[in-house]
Amino acid sequence: MADDHGDRITAFIARMTSALGPKGVSTDAHEIEPHISDWRGRWKGSTPVLIKPASTEEVSKAMTLCAEYGLAVNPQGGNSGMVNGSVPQGEVLISLKRMNKVREVDVLNDAMTLEAGVILTRAQDIAAEHDRLFPLSLGAQGVAMIGGLISTNAGGVQVLRYGMMRDLVLGIEAVLPDGRIWNGLRGLRKDNTGYDLKHLFIGAEGTLGVVTAATLKLFPRPAVKETAWVAVESPAKAVELLMLAKQASGGAVTGFEIVPKLGLELVLKHIPDTRDPLPTALPWRILMELSLPREEGARDMIESLLGDAIEKGVAADAVICENEAQKAMVWKIRENIAVAERAHGKALKHDVSVPVSRVAEFMERGTALAHQMTPGVDVIAFGHVGDGNIHFNITPPPGADQDRFVEQDGLPMSKAVHDLIASLNGSISAEHGIGRLKRDELAWRKSPVEMDMMRAVKRALDPDGRMNPGRLL
Ligand SMILES: Cc1cc2nc3c(=O)[nH]c(=O)nc-3n(C[C@H](O)[C@H](O)[C@H](O)COP(=O)(O)OP(=O)(O)OC[C@H]3O[C@@H](n4cnc5c(N)ncnc54)[C@H](O)[C@@H]3O)c2cc1C
Repeated sequence: MADDHGDRITAFIARMTSALGPKGVSTDAHEIEPHISDWRGRWKGSTPVLIKPASTEEVSKAMTLCAEYGLAVNPQGGNSGMVNGSVPQGEVLISLKRMNKVREVDVLNDAMTLEAGVILTRAQDIAAEHDRLFPLSLGAQGVAMIGGLISTNAGGVQVLRYGMMRDLVLGIEAVLPDGRIWNGLRGLRKDNTGYDLKHLFIGAEGTLGVVTAATLKLFPRPAVKETAWVAVESPAKAVELLMLAKQASGGAVTGFEIVPKLGLELVLKHIPDTRDPLPTALPWRILMELSLPREEGARDMIESLLGDAIEKGVAADAVICENEAQKAMVWKIRENIAVAERAHGKALKHDVSVPVSRVAEFMERGTALAHQMTPGVDVIAFGHVGDGNIHFNITPPPGADQDRFVEQDGLPMSKAVHDLIASLNGSISAEHGIGRLKRDELAWRKSPVEMDMMRAVKRALDPDGRMNPGRLL
């Protein structure tokens, strides 16, 4: 039996090599190594072969052969996913890294068409070269690729103004599990011709097919960004400040991130060359960014907005960044909270969202719940308060076995946090997805009717269940 399987794989690899050429196929353990564990080294996997197609036609050939041999497929982009979706578990691994061409930049349509292997920072640069903005921005932007960002419906730090990846995609090209190519690269803002199939592939985590290219929206580049570092007394005050800032700026708030004092202290301790621009004992900081079309009046706007907030008792204190170095410093603090937290030790992590109106209630009740269930834990709750998306992390009590806490003893607390989220009409995965990590929980958290609809879509497009088995569904 095992020999049959081995023979089949050997025959498959020979056919793949003659179809794609030696550059498109690798069984070299050294080359495969970085593709079979995640960026944190938390999950390890395996694959019999790494396929590296250089065009949509080559992806189609690869998928046709996988179908013929009945082999499961794991598509991979930058392998920066957080939920154990991109690490192969014995499947054929298809890396999109060689598919990195710019197909078109249509400036008059404010759109660009990129292949799935283009890295996010390059996509941002291409937009900037055409005096446009591609607004998606996140910590892994130096490695995450367009196909992976689409497949996880990535979020990041500008969602409150520009939306998630789903809001930034006009069209998609994908290869189906049977090898057929669907060209849905329409750069249309309006297209009411039935089901909008691109949305099936956005956030599908590679369970329906391989995304090979996408037409993405572009935006005007802001002339000026004003950035402030604001001290507030509570998450409730943070939400009040957000509302005030949105109103006063006419919707120009592009960043609104909450940083707890403990998170800040960990960054200052573990990350070199960081300092708090507003040293105060107050328990929360807000990184607020406004993006404006004109220099004139921009500084006046943020000054009067913050003056008003302090006068009304919404903000306690604030500094406005005077130059690019100061802006970089506050973003460095925000972007390094997870890194500093990891240097501090292990933590139970929750990537959750609630309606913005319930963020403060969630943070207060969630923190009380954690302390009540396990005295001595610390809660580090930070992130995209402007989208209702909080990274709610809980560190073990002093002296506890960290692995045991994260893998066993803390799990009832995680369930309680997610129960609280459900009671507030929230989501147990705001932006990282489901993967293998949350698959079991999703199945009982979602309603039977919702799971039935999702499974029906999966059966329709992938009847043999060969696309990313064990992830999401
Ligand atoms: C430091 C750091 C910070 C992060 N910050 C954020 C954040 O702020 N917001 C956020 O949303 N995420 C964040 N992430 C998570 C991660 O960057 C995103 O999930 C990203 O979208 C993954 O892109 P990728 O190319 O690395 O995809 P991968 O990790 O390679 O794959 C992710 C999933 O998509 C599937 N997939 C990949 N490419 C394709 C394709 N072409 N067709 C079909 N399926 C495919 C994979 O099988 C897998 O299931 C962060 C990660 C890190 C390491």
